[in-house]
Amino acid sequence: MLSKYEIHKKNILNKIYENEKISRQELHELLDLRFATITKIVKDLIADGIIEESGEKRKREKGRPHSLLRIIPNCRFFVGCELNPENIIALILNIKGALIIKDKIEILKTDTKEDILKKIEILLKNVIEKSKIEKNKIYGIGFVDPGIIDVENGVSIFSSILPQWKNVETKKYIEEKLNINTFITGSAQAKVLSEKFFGEGKESKNFIFVEFGNGIGCGIMSEGKIVHGIGGVAGEFGHIKIKGIEENCNCGKKGCLEAVASIPSIEKRIETIIGKRLTIKEIVNEYEKNNQKIREILDGIFDIFSTSISNLINILNPEFVILDKNFLLFEKFLDEFIKKIKNNMVYDYPLKFKISNFDEDIGAIGGACLSISKFLGLDI
Ligand SMILES: [Zn+2]
Repeated sequence: MLSKYEIHKKNILNKIYENEKISRQELHELLDLRFATITKIVKDLIADGIIEESGEKRKREKGRPHSLLRIIPNCRFFVGCELNPENIIALILNIKGALIIKDKIEILKTDTKEDILKKIEILLKNVIEKSKIEKNKIYGIGFVDPGIIDVENGVSIFSSILPQWKNVETKKYIEEKLNINTFITGSAQAKVLSEKFFGEGKESKNFIFVEFGNGIGCGIMSEGKIVHGIGGVAGEFGHIKIKGIEENCNCGKKGCLEAVASIPSIEKRIETIIGKRLTIKEIVNEYEKNNQKIREILDGIFDIFSTSISNLINILNPEFVILDKNFLLFEKFLDEFIKKIKNNMVYDYPLKFKISNFDEDIGAIGGACLSISKFLGLDI
């Protein structure tokens, strides 16, 4: 339980973080706190090197100008690390989201979970060392897992896209090797955090992020909070069942959306039907060239995928939907795809669709945002 002082400190810090610059007077008015309390906490935050005085603002013609406070961008640093089937990405952000350093390391199909853990450790040690940031200025590491996790204990339980990543005590391992506080989250949740802190979702309390790539998932921001569910598994959108789909899914079940509409599943399905292995880019090329067979297969997949997204919208009623950048693979048909989604919505409200602006770093950035949210004490 936080003490009263800690609660006030957290609220003051958050208000300063939200505003570029703010005076003690404005904090007093916004937070309905005694002026003496604000003065004391501000003094402590300045002493901790988290905030600083930054200029003055005169409110009226007469009267003393108010000095302004702002957060020091490099007051602390936040590490994000995402594991996915191809690589591990690690990066460091300052509290305002500026990228300090980034590096990645490849994952091999033959890597065991022990190999992967070792790679995570080496990569994290490398970026921290190369950044030349003093260790006590690094607040925490946000690890982004490709599968289902036990958030409380920091355990990676299982991943449908990285089968060897099973029952791993990830948090414990990283904390033992790096000696830095570590938090863990799923990839869809991390992407929502990136959008909320530094992307398309800044102004909204209700939006969803649809992941599309090696897997399919959904991150949900509802009433300003990320929906985790009781076991952190909420948003496992890739594993909703589709009638008539017989494909085995990597999760061990049959007929999942991911088993038909993820990028590897699309490639596999095309290969099975036309007897030739094409990459997703080649498939899209053929589609654009009006290859009838490919059009038929892909249109079928688009139908399933768009209906599934409509179902999600009907349940959650978001303000907007952020689509994974990989949807740009189908840029020429995206309007058509969105139209299909809208056709199946229970009522037609002005729902917006946005494409994520983040590149491959989005997950790792979300990991760093998780660490920032812990530092700020945000209940997100
Ligand atoms: Zn599945």
